[in-house]
Amino acid sequence: MTSPTPRPEILTISPYVGGEASVPGVNRSYKLSSNEGAFGVPPMAQQALREVAAEGFRYPDGGADRLREAIGAYWNLDPAKIVCGAGSDDILYHLCLAYGGPGRDIMMSAHGFTIYHIAGVYAGSEVIKVPEVNLQPDLNAMLAAVTPATKAVFLANPNNPTGAMITESDMAEFRKALRSDILLVIDSAYAEYVTRDDYNAGERLVDATGNTIMTRTFSKIFGLGGIRLGWSYGPPAVNDVLHRVRAAFSVSVAAQAAGIAALAEPGWVEKGREHNALWRPKLAAGIEAAGIKVWPGEGNFVLADFGTAEFAGKADQYMRLRGLILRRVGSYGLPQCLRITVGTADECGLVIEGLAEFMKQTRG
Ligand SMILES: *Cc1c(COP(=O)(O)O)cnc(C)c1O
Repeated sequence: MTSPTPRPEILTISPYVGGEASVPGVNRSYKLSSNEGAFGVPPMAQQALREVAAEGFRYPDGGADRLREAIGAYWNLDPAKIVCGAGSDDILYHLCLAYGGPGRDIMMSAHGFTIYHIAGVYAGSEVIKVPEVNLQPDLNAMLAAVTPATKAVFLANPNNPTGAMITESDMAEFRKALRSDILLVIDSAYAEYVTRDDYNAGERLVDATGNTIMTRTFSKIFGLGGIRLGWSYGPPAVNDVLHRVRAAFSVSVAAQAAGIAALAEPGWVEKGREHNALWRPKLAAGIEAAGIKVWPGEGNFVLADFGTAEFAGKADQYMRLRGLILRRVGSYGLPQCLRITVGTADECGLVIEGLAEFMKQTRG
């Protein structure tokens, strides 16, 4: 008897492994492995989720009209150019499936977000990974690596897990030099955390060109990772494609209500951004003071470099026993590093204390 088989390339994909949530045998654990916001779910979104419970038997508004209006009003964007999805991963998958495919390459930076690789291979594309310089995407090398078959380029800005940020002018130059029939996907999952003034999340480039799309998420600063809500802002031709292929009811009644309420929460983004601007540098400095290299970058996480995979693994194990769950990033080609989310002030303190103790013990 023969068994059903998928396309052979599907079995080359390693399943995405999310950050662990708890450590067996440890009383209290701190999850700093998935870059979820430091402050949980906005209170108004919690209230909205309770209130919407009785509406759960109704199909959601497939067009997510009220949510798109709210997103547009919040960021001053045209709601007609916004598409919502079950997390931004949902939209990234559809972009890969629609623009990639057999004989249609997609391109990413070597240490870019792994979802582009998974979704690209799923689509049947060749996924071109371009080496980085000092964990920064090498935009010139990416241009040089473009082939006639290249159909889309995916850049996370800032990137997860490196934190690398591309300035607005570098991104615009890259777009100008990139062949016009290649879709540029700017994944700005961490945009709200960036405080540098040479940054733009991508909406200006979307408006200035017809071949660039920006994706955003409610999973990070808005604290709704478990609810699954993301969106994109793109040109009409790409939105038309997304509307043809997306699941009709991908964004649940709960996600739409929670998203609208989260946007209305007074001062929420400001609080998250200010906390991060204070604690990201403090966390990085504390880790460096322990004698561990930290790569410079943006986002609500830091990338600590232990030099070898073995040493990073030891540090990870040591921290786990203290209940501190960090993220190994071997699947991103960085087995010598650990990614650490900027948590609350207390959590940052525990990380600094733990790593300092680890280094002291290792030195003997
Ligand atoms: C967290 C993250 C996302 C968000 O994914 P969702 O599906 O919206 O939860 C997208 N891109 C990057 C680079 C991320 O780190």
